[in-house]
Amino acid sequence: MTSQHHDTLLLDGWVSPAIPSRRIEVVSPVTERIIGSVPEATETDVDRAVATARRAVDAPGGWASLLPELWAAALERLADSLDKRSSAMAEAVSSQNGMPIMVARRSEARLPAALLRYYAGFARRTPIEEDRPGLAGGTTRVRREGLGVVAAIVPWNYPQCLAFFKLAPALAAGCSVVIKPSPEAVLDSYVLAEAVLEAALPDGVVTIVPAGREVGAYLVSHPGVDKVSFTGSTAAGKAIGEVCGRLLRPVTLELGGKSAAIVLDNADLAAHTAQLFGACLVNNGQTCYISTRILAPRSRYQEVVDTISDLARSLRVGDPLDPKTQIGPVVTRAQRDRIQHAIATARRDGARLTAGGGTPAGLDHGWFVEPTVFADVDNSSSLAQEEVFGPVLAVVPYGDVDEAVALANDSRYGLGGTVWSSDQERAVAVARRMRTGSVGINGFMIDPAAPFGGVKDSGLGRELGPEALGSYQQVKSIYL
Ligand code: NAD
Repeated sequence: MTSQHHDTLLLDGWVSPAIPSRRIEVVSPVTERIIGSVPEATETDVDRAVATARRAVDAPGGWASLLPELWAAALERLADSLDKRSSAMAEAVSSQNGMPIMVARRSEARLPAALLRYYAGFARRTPIEEDRPGLAGGTTRVRREGLGVVAAIVPWNYPQCLAFFKLAPALAAGCSVVIKPSPEAVLDSYVLAEAVLEAALPDGVVTIVPAGREVGAYLVSHPGVDKVSFTGSTAAGKAIGEVCGRLLRPVTLELGGKSAAIVLDNADLAAHTAQLFGACLVNNGQTCYISTRILAPRSRYQEVVDTISDLARSLRVGDPLDPKTQIGPVVTRAQRDRIQHAIATARRDGARLTAGGGTPAGLDHGWFVEPTVFADVDNSSSLAQEEVFGPVLAVVPYGDVDEAVALANDSRYGLGGTVWSSDQERAVAVARRMRTGSVGINGFMIDPAAPFGGVKDSGLGRELGPEALGSYQQVKSIYL
């Protein structure tokens, strides 16, 4: 990607930032060089973004009062504008966070437009008012209204997809959205801003405030915000949840995970290596739902360890912009150091290293980590309990299925999970027993038409599907 420097913020159309000298610099995880910079939004800029977003929904004839047909048309225009920029979007994301370009083309470049069209369809089809016969006679008109101004706080790992998990249903509910991207991945938000302007969304319906956590915290507690939707770490999610609790402000939290893959004794893993890669290692292990704890039956233990280790060793590690790359660098030096620390701790805890563990040959520059597998991992050890957010897998042995389910559920998290079996219904029976928000059978692929989210420390509420639309609406009863 050519170097990108921006001087304005999308607050009320393009405007100059309150303090132009405050900048965010984005560093390439491959070259370790600065590849772009943008103004860092300050509290004054957030005030302006929220004020514009408020006007957009509150003004007579504003976004909230439009006919759903007009919301749908605007969402479809934005989808078309994003489609025109799909290559630029994929490249912007890959070059900032190390996501392999083939993943970025599927997710960051395509899913946002698909989500906009999906929710546009809902807006068109679903009446916002419904008359119900009253229990004691009469009629009640039940009306669904947008909550108002939404603060959408997104992380760097899938910056566009995760923004659109929020943006698409919120806009289709008649809300305006202030997006706060993560400082590690902000350049892509300028591609989005251009698409928003080209699609001629009314001013303030989408505003963008690139900034770090302090300004994010200011936005969360801003009196002009009606709902907060956050994706990120459990620690930050808890802090945000506390603030929203105190303010009685609706909040959706999509947080961390340490999901389990339960390999049943009749699994055919060799036939599913592509799905295994997608479910356990996609995006360099920087994916919240991936199954990074592989629970293997003792009856086939060594075979499972060998399959997973061979898979890790076979992966092509390199430049994320090369279409053949399967594993790119992780996002920052700090993240690379955290992953190396997790690997060293697992070794000290007595886990058996069966693949990787170091820096890939010839890639001493940039934040690369070898795809790594540990066998004989104790489920209570930190490798099995803590999220690594890198290409590191732990294999844990189990005796019978009851023990496998107990081990899977012995986690503070509950976001994803997978079951591997040649008998689908047997796998579904195991999936029903897992305390988690979603489970994949012989693979894991998020379905935008179905709800996604976590239990326990993995979060609160659901994104995607019709359920997400409801989370940006309140219902009002008008007794006729
Ligand atoms: P992070 O929590 O540090 O940051 C996420 C975003 O929140 C960033 O934009 C950051 O600036 C902002 N932020 C942080 N603290 C804040 C606060 N107190 N108030 C307001 N904003 C704040 O997480 P990260 O390192 O950027 O992302 C990695 C984490 O995100 C991992 O734990 C991962 O599992 C999780 N994640 C979860 C999902 C999901 O859907 N459940 C998806 C992707 C990532």
